[in-house]
Amino acid sequence: MRILVTNDDGISAPGITALWQALRPLGEIFVAAPAAERSGASHSITVHDPIRVDAQDFGCADVRGWRVGGTPADCVKLALEALLDAPPDLVISGVNDGPNLGGDVLYSGTVSAAAEGAKHGVLSLAVSLDGATKERFDAASACTARLLPLCLARRLPPGTLLNVNFPASFQGEASVVWTRLGRREYENAFERRTDPRGRDYYWMHGRPVEDGNGEGTDVAAVRRGCVAVTPIQFDLTDYTLLEKLRAPAPFEA
Ligand code: MN
Repeated sequence: MRILVTNDDGISAPGITALWQALRPLGEIFVAAPAAERSGASHSITVHDPIRVDAQDFGCADVRGWRVGGTPADCVKLALEALLDAPPDLVISGVNDGPNLGGDVLYSGTVSAAAEGAKHGVLSLAVSLDGATKERFDAASACTARLLPLCLARRLPPGTLLNVNFPASFQGEASVVWTRLGRREYENAFERRTDPRGRDYYWMHGRPVEDGNGEGTDVAAVRRGCVAVTPIQFDLTDYTLLEKLRAPAPFEA
């Protein structure tokens, strides 16, 4: 099996190191990840600047690495369209430092890197962990490696994107449940500050709000201590509204 590993925390982050190390027994590993942290980069791509790529030597003959001066989506796009000589069987993005639940998936570089893999027709996983330490990154990575054969056995359609979230209580064992996206928004505050040259700037900091999450949501599942796995697709069409709009004579002239 050929596995492309990426993230948005940067190629040297402890989460991606734990992940590619745990996946090594499963096959050939390719790591293409941002040179610097790009959390919150969403699905942005680099269009107006060159994308610099340097080989990253991990000291293992069976792991090839590229340090990419771009976004998480750039890394996957570039790997699939230019760096790899054949498509991988899997794209895995993570392990992210922090959860990616509910509305987080729209901003997350971790999820978007996996979405880019899915867009290319490759089974892709985004993996995130609440409350990261080295031991817990290792435990989440080992659990991800155990999950892969189960996912493959489900014969998921090509281009499937699975968003995996490990709970704050995760120590190595937990129930894995299929979920839908819940509600996780932020109460943001923009703090206005002044730089040494007297110009104002803003620094955003937020507090997650997780109200109104029913049974079956990713937010409720991780709160219960389960590993939440949400299949995600990026057809953003509002089909319910579309049906209403197409109904006969929906508008008064
Ligand atoms: Mn991140």
